[in-house]
Amino acid sequence: MGTVSRAISRAILPSDLEASLSDLPKVVPDDYVFISVRDAGDPGYAQPSSAAGHARYSLIRRGMTVGEFLAVDQRGNQPRRADITANAKAKPGQGTPNLGLSAPDSDAARAARAEFLGTAADPAIATSVAPEPKAPSAMLDPKRSRLVCEVDFDKDGKQNGFVRLFHSVHASAYGFIPIPITVVKNGEGPTVVLVSGNHGDEYEGQVALCDLSRTLDPEKIKGRVIILPMANFAAGMAGRRTSPIDEVNLNRAFPGDPDGTVTQQIAYWIESTLLPKADFVADLHSGGSSLMYLPSALMKKSGNTKRDEAQRAMLEAFGAPMNYISTGGSGTGQDNTLSGGAERLGIPAIGTELAGSGTVTPHAARVARRGVNNLLVHAGILPETERMEPPTPPKFVTVAGPEHFVYASESGVWEPLVELGQTVTADQVAARIYTPETPWRPPVYLRFQAEGIVLCKRVPGRTSRGDCLFHLGA
Ligand SMILES: [Zn+2]
Repeated sequence: MGTVSRAISRAILPSDLEASLSDLPKVVPDDYVFISVRDAGDPGYAQPSSAAGHARYSLIRRGMTVGEFLAVDQRGNQPRRADITANAKAKPGQGTPNLGLSAPDSDAARAARAEFLGTAADPAIATSVAPEPKAPSAMLDPKRSRLVCEVDFDKDGKQNGFVRLFHSVHASAYGFIPIPITVVKNGEGPTVVLVSGNHGDEYEGQVALCDLSRTLDPEKIKGRVIILPMANFAAGMAGRRTSPIDEVNLNRAFPGDPDGTVTQQIAYWIESTLLPKADFVADLHSGGSSLMYLPSALMKKSGNTKRDEAQRAMLEAFGAPMNYISTGGSGTGQDNTLSGGAERLGIPAIGTELAGSGTVTPHAARVARRGVNNLLVHAGILPETERMEPPTPPKFVTVAGPEHFVYASESGVWEPLVELGQTVTADQVAARIYTPETPWRPPVYLRFQAEGIVLCKRVPGRTSRGDCLFHLGA
């Protein structure tokens, strides 16, 4: 089969791109075959991958299911299953602006595919793949979401509106919760999805995205920017981490539930409908009411080298003074977060922890504004001339397991003994916890378990056993 694969590759791939395909993941078995899904006469064919890495090829093998169908872009990103679902319905020659993957639209591509599959040439990809597997899958059906978006994602220009989350209550029988959204689009190009207000008490990102929503000129961009500044609207209006309606934390609710509570429905809409449109995702958080951070951006290590490199490049572009790579932290959310959803879809995503304390600092707001601007430059949406150099080169550290966290062992009033940004050593005393209701009892001393830089500290003076008081980067 390898011979056939190479023969077809040579037949339909220009030599320079064939060379770049050797860079694809090693896990692709020998019996897969590269088949161009574009006509060699198509002007888009053989163009270098855009910053978004639009796929030009599909990998197909005999008898594969939709779940197995891999669409790998030229940087080797993981398949985007939602896109594949959408594209499986594409008519010949059609693609989506997201992926650039389309059904074979030339006799040559059809013939090459037919030769490999040993079947009659069929114009539609849909017929070349088996029905979806019954096993639970990361693919979410956007049609199951009950939310209704007022804006057209595919229209050029700037559109402001709301995603309607219907919520029938005593005071408003047919009412909806209006989640604001801005789409700015100009022609073909990559899509960046920017989210803030995932937690309603984290304000730096909301401020930056309000500015961007108002000022981003569609004439000056190439591609598309989707801005969701108040993702958990009810939590945002209440200035709370969780929604006052259902007490659900949006960033622990992914992939959500189309029939669940309001916050679960938002998570489902974001993962099924919004994220699959993205080539790059940034979810802007901060420490919120209970934590304060050194203004930071972060990525979760996925284990997919190409995706991790893409995320690292996004961090470098964003240019926060501090950056950390999370290798699976202690209580910081796992695959139930928005970035977990992006990982399921194979989309590079970064987050931020801009500052916190339930307020906005001038410094953190500057970091946020510069970061989203530079991310648009990185994506190729804004020209290079728009890049804003950060005043200091971004620093990178790692946040690993429990050894990088200090948790309250008792309840009481806690006294931090170090400052944010301070370098500490393993076994250094981190804090004392007092019990003023029994003032003659000696305080409890807490120590760091590893050396590192203090990235984050708890804000309120009262603490309960189990609260995170500090975490480090190393
Ligand atoms: Zn947050």
